[in-house]
Amino acid sequence: MSRKPAKKIKAEIPPNKEEATELKNKSANLHLLKGMKDILPSDQKYWDFIFDTVRNLGTDYSYSRIETPVMEQTNLFVRTVGKETDIVEKEVYTFTDKGGESVTLRPENTASVARAYNEHGFITFPQPVKVYYYGPFFRYSRPQSGRYRQFWQFGFEVLGEEHPVVDAQLVFLAHQFFKAIGLKVSIQINSIGCPSCRENFRQVLVDYFRSKKRNLCEDCKRRLTKNPLRLLDCKEAGCQEISQEAPQIVDYLCEECREHFVQVLEYLDSLEVAYTLNPYLVRGLDYYTRTTFEIWPEAEEISAQSSLGGGGRYDNLVESIGGRPTPAAGFACGVERIILRLKNKNVPVPQIPPPDVFLAQLGVSARKECLKLFEKFREKKIRVAEDFAKDGIKDQLSRASKQGVKLAIILGQKEILDGTVLIRDMEDGVQEVIDAQKIVPEVRKRLEKLKGEEKGDEEEKQDEGKVN
Ligand code: AMP
Repeated sequence: MSRKPAKKIKAEIPPNKEEATELKNKSANLHLLKGMKDILPSDQKYWDFIFDTVRNLGTDYSYSRIETPVMEQTNLFVRTVGKETDIVEKEVYTFTDKGGESVTLRPENTASVARAYNEHGFITFPQPVKVYYYGPFFRYSRPQSGRYRQFWQFGFEVLGEEHPVVDAQLVFLAHQFFKAIGLKVSIQINSIGCPSCRENFRQVLVDYFRSKKRNLCEDCKRRLTKNPLRLLDCKEAGCQEISQEAPQIVDYLCEECREHFVQVLEYLDSLEVAYTLNPYLVRGLDYYTRTTFEIWPEAEEISAQSSLGGGGRYDNLVESIGGRPTPAAGFACGVERIILRLKNKNVPVPQIPPPDVFLAQLGVSARKECLKLFEKFREKKIRVAEDFAKDGIKDQLSRASKQGVKLAIILGQKEILDGTVLIRDMEDGVQEVIDAQKIVPEVRKRLEKLKGEEKGDEEEKQDEGKVN
């Protein structure tokens, strides 16, 4: 069989500016969907920082991780989030799958967690069941800064306990998260009572808003008959102004709900968590009962899309989708908005450390040897960078210094014959010949020395800071 020589692709020559623009234009027909976002390698340090913090808090406060699918039966969200809510009415990605079933990309996770609680018999576990999650969510809303059609949330949920201390602990956990990542936030809190307190409040609220009907937005006019509590949640400036004077639900709480709320606040006071009472905080979802809270950037002019997170109690949700009566509470935060805020405030985040060594090679035998050497380093947990497809040492070393690597190992024809390698200090360029057999322990020794020196420099800087 005759084989045609493979066509050589000019991949090693990077495109110049004009070629890069041409390539970009050519690919413009296939682009990101509106409201969707690529999370690029340059941003990963923010994502790692957030998820590492979430996982650490999960472990510290004994929450287990749960992951539910991104797609659920449409009815799950209709029955929990609510038919009359903006999310279900306008924002869900719903379609009929090939089997004829109506499915929805999850717009939030509490409903799915409740479904999983019922479906996997979590009720038989010691209560409360504490879980956390992070993942992508989908809402078809108008994209703008901090509002996407696919966005990430993390959240913590406690199912099977109605004690007010749980609500306070959740608010505290949210507070601890923001403290851990170095963002100052303010916490707003309210109680929207149970369905029976809301029944009393509903009529008072309807009477108030009916008298202002002329000035309400079209959505709110509909809400008057369908879901009056949500009038308080409208983001239209005109409606918000009217809401300022509206009756407050806390004045209509039943005895038990009032006592529950008072206790939540008392626990928060004893934890020394600062909060603001916001009597109009109802949250946009139907399943909430009693405590509701939101996390906002500190000293920020409040705009519709700047809340960083929110949550509350949802005592009837598990039962509403077929489970036993199960009181529960939780909260979720939006990752993109937190990252935007970290960037705006120049909050330092841990950098992804550069590789420990760079393996540079010259010639086919050296390249083969380096492929094996790479694995030896990896086994010893020494992180190696390489560019084995390159031939020139200069190119390889320039890549090593761009990556911030401290040591380079150089292997050429001569070294292969002598059974040696060159070890190069990338900072001062000094090279030494080392016995190839001893290279791994030698690199480890040098890395430890370099780390010791860096630590010393760091401490010296801190001492100087103290003196000054
Ligand atoms: P919610 O489930 O609406 O209470 O949202 C909780 C948090 O998720 C919000 O405070 C935001 O940080 C974030 N979030 C909600 N919707 C979006 C969106 N469309 N784009 C980006 N983040 C969002």
